[in-house]
Amino acid sequence: MRNHRANLTHIAFANGEHLLSGWIRHNIRVGFSNFPFDGCLGYWGLPKQHLKAQRIDGAILDGILARTTLEENEREDLLVKRTNYSLWKLGVDSVDNGQKIKSPPAHLEQNTYAFSMSWHLCEQCVREQTEELGFSYWVRRHQIPSVTHCFKHGSILLTHPCVKRLDRLALPAKLLGENEFIPVSQNHSLLEWSNFVIEVDRLIASNPDLITLWQSEVKRILALPEVTRHKDKPFFQALSKRMESDLGDGILNHLFRAYRDERQSKPDVLWRTLSGLRKQKTTRHPVFWLVILYWLRDSLTSLDKI
Ligand SMILES: [Zn+2]
Repeated sequence: MRNHRANLTHIAFANGEHLLSGWIRHNIRVGFSNFPFDGCLGYWGLPKQHLKAQRIDGAILDGILARTTLEENEREDLLVKRTNYSLWKLGVDSVDNGQKIKSPPAHLEQNTYAFSMSWHLCEQCVREQTEELGFSYWVRRHQIPSVTHCFKHGSILLTHPCVKRLDRLALPAKLLGENEFIPVSQNHSLLEWSNFVIEVDRLIASNPDLITLWQSEVKRILALPEVTRHKDKPFFQALSKRMESDLGDGILNHLFRAYRDERQSKPDVLWRTLSGLRKQKTTRHPVFWLVILYWLRDSLTSLDKI
């Protein structure tokens, strides 16, 4: 076992740093920034792809995990601490426990969701990191899907087209100096949503059993049938109408493209998430559960105080 461990690469992370950010800094330290990015990927045995901020699977992440960890539980621990893996557990039904979390193909995500999937930064965080540490890094919580505000400063996160497909060893401070970054959203009222999502992420990481509890509480609050049949669809549609009017346009427009575009049919969030009748090979995107939890948060354990 010790020999195997000796072959692993150790990446030192900063506080709250995203997995890929630690990997970028590791490669800069060993001198890879002087070479083409493809050479760095090749050294790690990784395919020529860009670095995606919000994905929790894929060849690049899998490849890095294989070179830095030995055991499955170490891998999961690193994913929980350094990516938004915790939130994806929301999409796994209790009956499917043990199912491997596999997110949908990236192009389907881009077509369905309206929020930015680029890399995000907070200008103030970058300034503080540089002053304290002498370097900047990508913060994990800034890359959580649909989050628009910094958990620490409450400021709107920034992005730039140059980091949408990040294909170089680049850190926030340098990029900020070279480009004019723009807000990920103009909607200041999404601060409450962002804080909620950040808190759900924290709660799941510290107590994953909350997911099963919330799932059963939601079913009880909405008085869902024990076993759902197709004939129950109108009941779900009526609930959806209620949810839409309670939430208002701001959040739904932020999350789903269909709510911005009259021509697209709206995703039936409640039916797809709660009916259990939708067969799928991939895990549901966490925003489906997040929007339901947000809607009913006043009546849910640990969420009613947020
Ligand atoms: Zn900040």
